[in-house]
Amino acid sequence: MQKLVLASGNAGKLKEFRRLLAPLGLSVLPQTELGVAEAEEPHQTFVENALAKARHAAQSTGLPALADDSGLCVMALGGAPGVHSARYAGEPKSDSRNNEKLVQALEGSPERRAHYACVLVLCRSAGDPEPLIAVGDWWGEILTAPRGTGGFGYDPLFFDPQFALTAAELDLERKNRVSHRGKAMATLLEQLQRQGAVLR
Ligand code: IMP
Repeated sequence: MQKLVLASGNAGKLKEFRRLLAPLGLSVLPQTELGVAEAEEPHQTFVENALAKARHAAQSTGLPALADDSGLCVMALGGAPGVHSARYAGEPKSDSRNNEKLVQALEGSPERRAHYACVLVLCRSAGDPEPLIAVGDWWGEILTAPRGTGGFGYDPLFFDPQFALTAAELDLERKNRVSHRGKAMATLLEQLQRQGAVLR
């Protein structure tokens, strides 16, 4: 089975990717299982960070590498926390402290619109001159209090008006169908299919 290293140790992302990539018959290995340390994410854009992470994982393992750089962009906060979403409330990374900080930052604000953004980069090798790049977004609203127990990150606060549910109340199947990551992955798969050969 063709192996693909996922340039992330995020358990929530891994669960979603395993489901999304199942139809391709790929074995998805998180970089943490292969002893790869987290890459630096010093950049101001999702695409630069995703490229840095994918390249680092491909270089360290010799395998094709998929990286996801994603985050929550909140209108009333000028797009924050954006690329800093994972560490919005500082070190060590904590979803619950991030969510508390977000609730406080939006206290009393009538402007609740936000979107998740995702950039996927697939490097077939560390020196791949043509990495595949795909983007996706998912628009919703930020609630004043968390709801639901599924998903990860900001999902309990992220309300999708179409479903009238938070991302943490959606099952994995439905989240993957409408999410930023699911949309980016659909685009990436189209690119792979157009090229005929998967990851050669
Ligand atoms: P990254 O691992 O540096 O790309 O940071 C991603 C961060 O963005 C996560 O730690 C979450 O805080 C947030 N995030 C990205 N995608 C999602 C999602 O689907 N649900 C909830 N939070 C997400």
